[in-house]
Amino acid sequence: MQVLTYLFLQGLCQYVITTVSLRMNTTSSTTTHAATTATPAVITRGNPNLPEVALTFDDGPSQYTPQVLAVLQRYNVPATFFLIGESISQYPGYLQQDLAAGNAVGNHTFTHPHLPTLSASAIYSELSQAQNAVYNVTGTRPTIFRPPYGEYNTDVVSAASQLGMTVINWSAAASDWENPPPAANVIASRILSAAENGAIFLLHEGGGDRSNTVAALPDIISGLQLRGFRLVTIPDMLAHRNETDTK
Ligand SMILES: [Zn+2]
Repeated sequence: MQVLTYLFLQGLCQYVITTVSLRMNTTSSTTTHAATTATPAVITRGNPNLPEVALTFDDGPSQYTPQVLAVLQRYNVPATFFLIGESISQYPGYLQQDLAAGNAVGNHTFTHPHLPTLSASAIYSELSQAQNAVYNVTGTRPTIFRPPYGEYNTDVVSAASQLGMTVINWSAAASDWENPPPAANVIASRILSAAENGAIFLLHEGGGDRSNTVAALPDIISGLQLRGFRLVTIPDMLAHRNETDTK
């Protein structure tokens, strides 16, 4: 009996090992297929087959919004702004200017908390209040959400989904939130050195002195364009996820 039990367990073990290795073997061959059909819970990059990248600015609106918008307009490129709900009441006109200039606006919570430390209902409330803050000014609600500090758990993903939003993090950061802020040329080189198809770049327009970020923008934009990248909004990048390069 003991021998039979042993053989059974050994067989089961072998079955498990075989199943696991089969799964591992099939992972690489199905990855390409999965990437073009399923949307991951948290997006960090756009289509790797397209030469397009996205500049994203967190923590606005702020006193720096007009300067960021002026540079974007000078180069005629769009960006995506992840806004803090409670800051919108301070600068409602800047939110309208963001959208009027062809940029996209996303939700970055109402008060910028560390979401995983909150209850599921408090998380939902943070996201929902920020949706309403944008809606009250624009009549539309964001379809994209970025968690503060990039921190999320299943409750965060679930709340975003319930509110009709895709969670967007980033593939490369300028770390322009460092204090004191890095010099403009350091910010620009951090972005340009991480440029690749589908890159999502994290920059900041609020939460501190963003003069160096603003000063870095012309070099960032012209450097990306020189290397053949198109600058797109995050919603456009998401819409292109399943396209193949036709060039
Ligand atoms: Zn933030």
